[in-house]
This record gives sequence, structure tokens and C-alpha cells, in this order.
Amino acid sequence: MVKVKLPDGSVKEYQQSISPLAVAGDISQGLARAAIAARVDGKLVDLTFNMADGEHELQLLTNRDKESLEILRHTAAHVLAMAVVRLYGPTVQYTIGPALLDDFQYGFYYDFALPCNISVEDLSKIEAEMKKIVSEKLPFRREELSAAAAKSLLGKRGQKYKCEMIDDMLAAGEGAVVSLYHQGEGPDAFVDMCRGPHLSDTGKLGNAFKLMAVAGAYWRGDEKNPMLTRIYGNAFFDKKELAEHLDRIEQAKKRDHRVLGKQLSLFLLDEKVGPGMAMWLPRGATIRMELENWLRGELIKGGYSIVYSPHIGKLDLYRTSGHYPYYKESQFPPIMFEEDGKEDGFLLKPMNCPHHIMMYKSTQHSYRELPIRLAEFGQVYRWEQSGELNGLTRVRAFCQDDAHIFCAPEQLESEISACIDLVKLVLSTLGLNDYRVRISLRDPNSDKYVGSDENWNLAEANIRSVVKASGMDYSEALGEAAFYGPKIDFIVKDCIGREWQLGTVQVDYNLPERFELEYIGRDNSAHRPVMIHRAPFGSLERFIGILIEHFGGAFPLWLSPVQVAVLPVSDKVADYAAAVTARLKSAGLRVELDESADKIGAKIRRATMNKIPYMAVIGAKEADSQTVSVRERIKGDIGEMAVENFKNALVCERDTKGKELVQI
Ligand SMILES: [Zn+2]
Ligand SMILES: [Zn+2]
Repeated sequence: MVKVKLPDGSVKEYQQSISPLAVAGDISQGLARAAIAARVDGKLVDLTFNMADGEHELQLLTNRDKESLEILRHTAAHVLAMAVVRLYGPTVQYTIGPALLDDFQYGFYYDFALPCNISVEDLSKIEAEMKKIVSEKLPFRREELSAAAAKSLLGKRGQKYKCEMIDDMLAAGEGAVVSLYHQGEGPDAFVDMCRGPHLSDTGKLGNAFKLMAVAGAYWRGDEKNPMLTRIYGNAFFDKKELAEHLDRIEQAKKRDHRVLGKQLSLFLLDEKVGPGMAMWLPRGATIRMELENWLRGELIKGGYSIVYSPHIGKLDLYRTSGHYPYYKESQFPPIMFEEDGKEDGFLLKPMNCPHHIMMYKSTQHSYRELPIRLAEFGQVYRWEQSGELNGLTRVRAFCQDDAHIFCAPEQLESEISACIDLVKLVLSTLGLNDYRVRISLRDPNSDKYVGSDENWNLAEANIRSVVKASGMDYSEALGEAAFYGPKIDFIVKDCIGREWQLGTVQVDYNLPERFELEYIGRDNSAHRPVMIHRAPFGSLERFIGILIEHFGGAFPLWLSPVQVAVLPVSDKVADYAAAVTARLKSAGLRVELDESADKIGAKIRRATMNKIPYMAVIGAKEADSQTVSVRERIKGDIGEMAVENFKNALVCERDTKGKELVQI
């Protein structure tokens, strides 16, 4: 007897073991068609799962459940693998093919070792084969085998990567039972090792999928291993969702900061200088300078002291901090040399913390001086794999808007809270109002962290308590902490729905211990301060890269490299145009006078292309009446204004950071 309890509380009884699909059919044919997979007794399973004698809780998943998209995309990866084997023959090695849920572009991939090279041109052929497999409606059949039997079956098919995965599972004490999935039967069947679940047959994948890219990927992500071919794609439940997604990607392409950066002359990446070494051209440097000036002003209001430190530090300093060796893989190799017969070395600064710590440590502190907040726009260097580098968003040299707060334990929570407020101010000023908060904790099973369990537990408790009190929604992520402490991360959605990790606030009891930091308490004895590391922008390179895409290059007035273009209609008004330019410049506005011989239409087009927020068009009429005709880059002509009024309105928009706009 099988008793099946459904989510609405009703119970169905069957004489023999039964599958979720059959129960769905028993309820309605529509439900059987709509069912994607099932959750039986809390576990995600295939619709063909066998519910044996006894009581079971059953939830049928349809495309409305969030787990279903993952199953659809993962099934698409299997169908892709089958298509690739059909097209490129039995020597194709297939490795792993996960679904992706958080990636902006892709929904799944599969990694292959192929007998030949393929390129993006081959994708349509593979996609056509996938469509054929969908039309064949091949059932997914699950088979559970011992590891030895599974290995022999996959070994016979020449799948050495799958065999290696089974060996690893056995070494980890898993793999007593291995599940294989057959797509189709007989000699043409495609057999893959997978935990499942999948859609019940290939037909259920439907037609809302697309292959999108081909890339190289090392086996297990390790560059010592062979390079595999990764095919990326995406899949949705209906064609409309796929079309919307492809449209978003098109929009993202137009906003690509690497393209806009070139077009608007914002920054330069040059292989001769070094991969991932961005240089700020005058226009991009203006944006950076404005952001720095603004934040510096806020920091001074918030009781911070501004400091500067060199770009390198002695290796021993980083041995004490733990950056070396804990952080070794992500640093440039040390600069080694011999001095006074002793081997020594320097490290390009991977973080600013040790320098600020030495500043704190240079004098004795009383509790009355705390908190001490040291801030620096600090240049740091990280070793990113060349394949990971991406415009400004993944670089090897960057500037952090860093600060370290040294405080007494009883001051910690209010300091964290002030740091959160600063991040919120930064985001809201830039119109990045859609964000979520993540508390990043250590992975208790990893050895890449410094410090005692006691300190970690304390720091995690402090962070949770402040975030809870702030009323913000948050999630927790294991294994995302810094090596010295847990952190609060702000994950921001840009205007086309992509997520970026921006501001961070980190609590650290460990570095004060490693550097033996002290302050003299009210009781006249020595106590240990706590540290906060925080960076509202994160890195200026990455932050501005994201801002370029968020604004599509059309920065708000206060950040715009050129704020006003003065466009004389003809030579006859050249003197007046020069006078207007000078008058606007006198208010500290960044003004460009277009003295070219081009027609006014061409001048307007150029200024619009350069995304200059305002244009002052000047003809004989304006010269006579001491006015300008104002154009806004999106709205177009907004009317005529006296020069003085225009200047004041621009200053007001600039100084309120866009809260007050130029209006007639
Ligand atoms: Zn699978
Ligand atoms: Zn730090």
C-alpha cells in the first residue's frame, strides 16, 4: 500500500508502488502534461521515480516552481551533449554540464573533449540536432548501478573523464550507488552519469532554447589540466522569455563598457603596458576624480582621516598579516633580492590593511581616541588569470576606496552600522536602488581562513545583529568571507537586471591579534581593538566600469567629463560663444566650445553621440538677447535661457547631484 500526501493535505492511496507522473495523471491529464519533476519526501526526483510501499509526501513541480527552470536548463545540457556525440562521433568525451541560474547570459553549458575544433559557426548545426532529439521525445531512464558497474559501462564508451569522476567519488567515500541516465535505448542511446532529476523526455524541453557561445575551459578549472571545449546556451519555458532574454543581451552589448570606454575615450588598456592594467584617459579620469572628491568629502564628515601609503611592502609584513601565504595564488609573485647578505623580498600591495595597521601601531592609543578611521584611495595589485580579465571589471591593478576602522568592541556595532549607511548613500546617489544584502561567512571545512573559531563566531554574530537591526532583507553565503573575517556584501542590480557585487563591510578580530594591536582602556590596562575593513565602491575601476554600463555612458551632469557643449551656429557669433564659454567655465563647469566649421546639425549630433548632458546653441538671436538655446541630450530642445540663469541652473543640478534639474 502506498499513501501519497499532497501539499493541500489530501491523501491518495494506491495498491502498488507508483510514480509522481502517474499520480499527476490520476489528478488530471493537464497536470501530467505540465509536471516538470517532483519532490518526494523533501527530495527532488524524476517524474518516473518509484514511490514504494509506505507513506510519502509528494509535491509536483510545474514551470511555476523555481527549481523547474534549473531542471529544464540542465536537461538542455544533456540534450546538447547527445547532439554533440551524434554529430562528432563516439570519441567525444563529455564531462560536466550544469545549469546556470545566476549568469546574465547563459543558462547552461557542457564541457567536451572533441576530436576537432569547433567555433560559433558550428552552433546552428548542433542546435538543429538538438531540435531533432527534442522531436524524437526520447525518455530519460534512470539506472542505478554500483560504482564498478557504472565505471565499466562508461569505460566501454571511452568516457575517461566520467571514470575519473567515479574514482574521485569513491576516494571521497561516496559512490556506493551511481546513477546513470539513458536518453533513448539501444546502441544509439546517450548515457550520462548524473544525479538528476531531468525532464521525463527530451520532447518536454520544447523549442525555447539557444546555443550561444563556444569557449575554452580547463578540466576542473585547473590550468594544469587539458583544455576542454565549453558550449554555452540558454533555455526557457517559452519563446517569449527567450526573446526577452536575447533582447536584454543586445542591450547589454550596446552598454558594454569596453566599447563605450573606447568610443567616449574614458580609459585605455594596452598590452604593451600589461594585461589588466587600465589607464585613465582625461575624460575617464574626470569621472574618477569626481567620485573620489565626493566620497572624500563624505569621509571627512564621517570622522575619517585620509592617509597615503606606498604600493609595495616587505614580505614579512604580509607573513604577519597572513596575506602571504593565505592569499598567495591571487598575488603577483614577490620581488626578491639580497641586501646585506640577507635574502629579502617585497610584495606588490594586494591590500592596504597591513600599512594602515602599522600606522595605528606606530603610537600608543587611549580608548578616548577610538574609533580611529584611516581612509585611503589605495592602489592594489592582484594576479588574475589572463582569461578572467575583462575591461575594467576584472583587472590586475586597481584602486580601492579603502578604509580601516580601529575601535573598541563596544563601538563595533555602531561603526558597522555607519559603514552600511555610507554604502547606502553611495548607491542611492548613483541611482543604484535595486540591491540585496549578503552576509558572507567562512566555510567551516576550509583551511583558508586565519584566526580562532571564537573570533569568527563573535564577528559573525556582530554582523548578523547589525544587519537584522537595519531591517534590510539578507541572505547568507558560506565560503564567501575574507580570509580574516566575515563580511556584508551589497549585490546591486543594474538597469538591465544584471547583478554586481559592490560595497563591502568586513569585521575582523584576527588581524588585530596577529599584529598585537592595543589600546589603553578606561581601566588603564591594555585591550585589543577590533577592525572593520570597508569599501563602498569596492574598486574604482570596477565600479566605474559598472557605472558606464548602468548609465549607458550618459553620466549624470556632476560626473560627466564634459558637462556643456557650446555650439555656435556660425562664425558671426564666435565672440559671443567664447564669452558664454568663459562665463560657464568660471563656475567650474566643464565646457567644450565647438569651433569647427560644421553645420549646427552635425555639431548637435556629435555632442549627443558624446553623451554631453547639455548643449548651448548660439545664433544671432541668442547673441542679441544675451541668451542661449538649451538642448538636453535626450529631451532635445528645452528652450531659451539667459546665460546667467543657465549657469546657475547647471551649478544647481551639479551640486545637488541631479536632484534639481536644469529647467526653463
Ligand atoms: Zn543530469
Ligand atoms: Zn583591509
